Amino acid sequence: MNAPLIDPFARVISYLRLSVTDRCDFRCVYCMSENMTFLPKKELLTLEELDRMCSTFIDMGVKKLRITGGEPLVRRDILKFFNGMSRHLESGALEELTLTTNGSQLEKYAADLFAAGVRRINISLDTLDEKKFADITRWGRLPQVLRGIEAAQAVGLKVKINAVALKGFNEDELFTLTNWCAERQMDLTFIEVMPMGDLGNEDRFGQYWSLKDLRAELATQFTLTDLPDRTGGPARYVKINETGQRIGFITPLSHNFCESCNRVRITCTGEIYTCLGQEGHADLRGPLRQSESNEPLENAIRAAIMDKPKGHDFDYSRQKVDGQVSRHMSHTGG
Ligand code: SAM
Ligand code: SF4
Repeated sequence: MNAPLIDPFARVISYLRLSVTDRCDFRCVYCMSENMTFLPKKELLTLEELDRMCSTFIDMGVKKLRITGGEPLVRRDILKFFNGMSRHLESGALEELTLTTNGSQLEKYAADLFAAGVRRINISLDTLDEKKFADITRWGRLPQVLRGIEAAQAVGLKVKINAVALKGFNEDELFTLTNWCAERQMDLTFIEVMPMGDLGNEDRFGQYWSLKDLRAELATQFTLTDLPDRTGGPARYVKINETGQRIGFITPLSHNFCESCNRVRITCTGEIYTCLGQEGHADLRGPLRQSESNEPLENAIRAAIMDKPKGHDFDYSRQKVDGQVSRHMSHTGG
């Protein structure tokens, strides 16, 4: 095994998020425009290259791998990739293989994912109202996702729901969503909307619902106990005493988690982003394709980690969207 990945701020990199496609069967308004131009297929890492990329990171000490996108389950033959990664779970080199999905394909894939060693998944769901669901995802249909969630739970996958907090959209569903998840033994995480992509005509700033306010609202009906969990990411957790549920708050706009940041992201074209909030990135596809040996890739990975910034610059506090990055979330992976 290679020496572990440690950045200049002494943070150990043990968590890799990998986007396997920029495509999606939904067009969520905060994530994509309706008419997206997707990358030509040849730009994408092949399934074999995705395997080699992840295996190299695992060899360098990555213990947790989250697959994302776009929608990871619309990538053709993606199960081959998951089945390949299960060897690292079996050897103990990898501790967790997981994914973030919109749930649309889970009815089809839940059992196979479980068989490949996936035990926990995050499913994105912002509303339980069929009409609002169709509005926010443009192309998604709620019943299909609900069947996917049921299928996942039926095969034994532990499901966490992720909901983007949107002012004037799902504010009125705070308790409905929370109780619905509690009845199904699912944890729930709220995500503050991020200034990703083009603001275009959609006033994303107007959609901003502070999780501080959301939490205060939740506390009007429930007793919340802070949990000490530190996942190295932007999530903070509380327990709802009445339901036993864990509620997460992801506030990517705050800086307070950067000191413990343990993660890097790889896009579907093989670029490494060492900070979600910054444009800085490096190409790993070139070094990967350059040689059958992994040495150029390992060198490029180490160089990128040495450049990992201390923190990021999103800031709404100045009443305009500062630190906005132009790439879409579906490109870097959420
Ligand atoms: N398609 C999968 C899904 O929706 O779960 C995985 C990729 S998606 C980009 C990952 C997560 O990013 C989702 O939970 C989505 O709600 C979130 N997301 C997308 N755009 C966002 C934005 N502008 N601000 C905050 N979260 C966003
Ligand atoms: Fe697709 Fe996920 Fe983006 Fe929605 S948030 S458009 S489901 S990638």
